[in-house]
Amino acid sequence: AERKRRAAAVVEEVESSLATPTALLRSIADAMVTEMERGLSGDIHAQLKMLISYVDNLPTGDEHGLFYALDLGGTNFRVLRVQLGGREKRVVKQQYEEVSIPPHLMVGTSMDLFDFIAAALAKFVDTEGEDFHLPEGRQRELGFTFSFPVNQTSISSGTLIKWTKGFSINGTVGEDVVSELSRAMERQGLDMKVTALVNDTVGTLAGGRYMDNDVVAAVILGTGTNAAYVEHANAIPKWTGLLPKSGNMVINTEWGSFKSDKLPLSEYDKAMDFESLNPGEQIYEKMISGMYLGEIVRRILLKLAHDASLFGDVVPPKLEQPFILRTPDMSAMHHDSSHDLKTLGAKLKDIVGVADTSLDVRYITRHICDLVAERGARLAAAGIYSILKKIGRDKVPSSGGKMPRTVVALDGGLYEHYKKFSSCVEATLTDLLGEEASSSVVAKLANDGSGIGAALLAASHSQYG
Ligand code: ADP
Ligand code: MG
Repeated sequence: AERKRRAAAVVEEVESSLATPTALLRSIADAMVTEMERGLSGDIHAQLKMLISYVDNLPTGDEHGLFYALDLGGTNFRVLRVQLGGREKRVVKQQYEEVSIPPHLMVGTSMDLFDFIAAALAKFVDTEGEDFHLPEGRQRELGFTFSFPVNQTSISSGTLIKWTKGFSINGTVGEDVVSELSRAMERQGLDMKVTALVNDTVGTLAGGRYMDNDVVAAVILGTGTNAAYVEHANAIPKWTGLLPKSGNMVINTEWGSFKSDKLPLSEYDKAMDFESLNPGEQIYEKMISGMYLGEIVRRILLKLAHDASLFGDVVPPKLEQPFILRTPDMSAMHHDSSHDLKTLGAKLKDIVGVADTSLDVRYITRHICDLVAERGARLAAAGIYSILKKIGRDKVPSSGGKMPRTVVALDGGLYEHYKKFSSCVEATLTDLLGEEASSSVVAKLANDGSGIGAALLAASHSQYG
């Protein structure tokens, strides 16, 4: 009984420190809009970098030819080729391959990482079949999706600002990632030109627009989190070049680095951040994304093990191990709806090493998963809401008339596979928008949209015009 009382006290404390009442979400969204404006004006202290993508035109559907794409951003990278058939035939054929990145390369040298990628790409190019056609005398072209913050200097060049999401490689920051990749491709004897360098959010936006003309923003909820959207070029004070003909510019918000007193930051978040590769950075990302959710749950369970002997008299040693509880496992536990929480029990046995857990303990564990996922999903929804606010698609126009159909393309393994997470994002967004506006807003899964999007942008920026 004493144990139960202590567990209840910890749970109660967790509930209150992770709480995200709707009013708080609104004020977080407002703070985010303010940070977006600071970023657009070039304030060097702005938390949202609001990076200029040099994409001022999104795909139209007319793109045609053979293009490659390479997507580097998490634990896997993908290579893809697509034969585009123009307005009538659209995507004629598409093939892709996924390669996982050996962990030592994520913290090794730049050259080793890029050599590994280029080698995998060269191997993939070797398997190009009869269904793909490259006109005589032309060089193959590639869209490079690189999901880290980059200061672009043109559509096909840019320097790395910093690594995130568990990557930490010396000597890449400040370097042009396109020349790094190009040099590695040369070392492989691969004749290919990078014609577009895009963030995954920008790729997803491009791929999303190709599929649906009303897509105005893209959000990634995967290992990390980020968003891009279409901004009016004249609303970007830091843009000093000529205004693009389209009047638009895609902005990569880099919202993962958002930080605010308003964010419900618990002791578990603070400790995780402190011990991370990038302390003090990517605070919003650390509360939302797939790399971290399971780890937050682990830290709370550890506290329960210490303070309330949740898993018996001894604290299970495995539970002390950072990142042992991965978000997909958390999701599996969270979705267990069996009467005896059998799956959850089996997961606890596998991961934490405790063979017998009472139903009570299982319920508590599931509740913790629920609290952490719900906070992440609600914060993500507040972010989406802030972008809609920024572009005036959060409410019916005051001038009267209907709000235009507004589509947000979403991608990332977290959103795609964690059902309770994605439903909570959608429900919260509906709640924030209210009934009328939310009837015009659609959240749409753009599965692997960033790969095809990068290929489309490579096509529209082809050296052959
Ligand atoms: P990345 O973000 O690395 O480019 P993905 O978009 O595929 O790649 O996202 C992968 C991430 O999605 C994983 O790191 C994991 O956190 C999360 N994820 C994958 N599968 C699941 C799942 N079943 N439940 C919850 N999260 C998942
Ligand atoms: Mg990705």
